Amino acid sequence: MICEMCGKDVPSTRAMMVEGTKLNLCPSCMKFGDEYKAPRDDTGAPTSNAVIQQRLERRERRMQTKDIYAGTASVEIVDNYGEIIRKARMKKGMDMDEFAKSISEKKGTLVKIESQNLIPDDKLVAKLEKALNIKLKETVQSGGQVSGGAKSQTMTLGNFIKVEKE
Ligand SMILES: [Zn+2]
Repeated sequence: MICEMCGKDVPSTRAMMVEGTKLNLCPSCMKFGDEYKAPRDDTGAPTSNAVIQQRLERRERRMQTKDIYAGTASVEIVDNYGEIIRKARMKKGMDMDEFAKSISEKKGTLVKIESQNLIPDDKLVAKLEKALNIKLKETVQSGGQVSGGAKSQTMTLGNFIKVEKE
């Protein structure tokens, strides 16, 4: 089991709440979390559904932007940004506390970003890229497609979840 806070591989983890986010924590990280109480109608991942919705809306907006700026390229955050950040941080041998301190950010913010429950804003992305020497943005070519509307309609929440799980 991988601890979602420090990334250590431990025999067992426990689901805990950290600043509103459910994380599986190793024994040494449990002190940072509150007891996790599953809601009665727990569908498994209410938080990530909200995030998926948020990202879908971003994609919608991206599609709409295409109509206006047809033929230009837009820059978007990569799909697995959390994983990239976590790996780069661990490569530097920093735990969440050290990393948060080194870039003057709240640890809770970083926890959410690494678990992809929060999308960092442009300023924070730039900071993370610089601190970890990584690339979190990708250039999305909009091509000359003026009627991007048809394409965005085929992207439903259902198939988006499928894509995320692959
Ligand atoms: Zn841990």
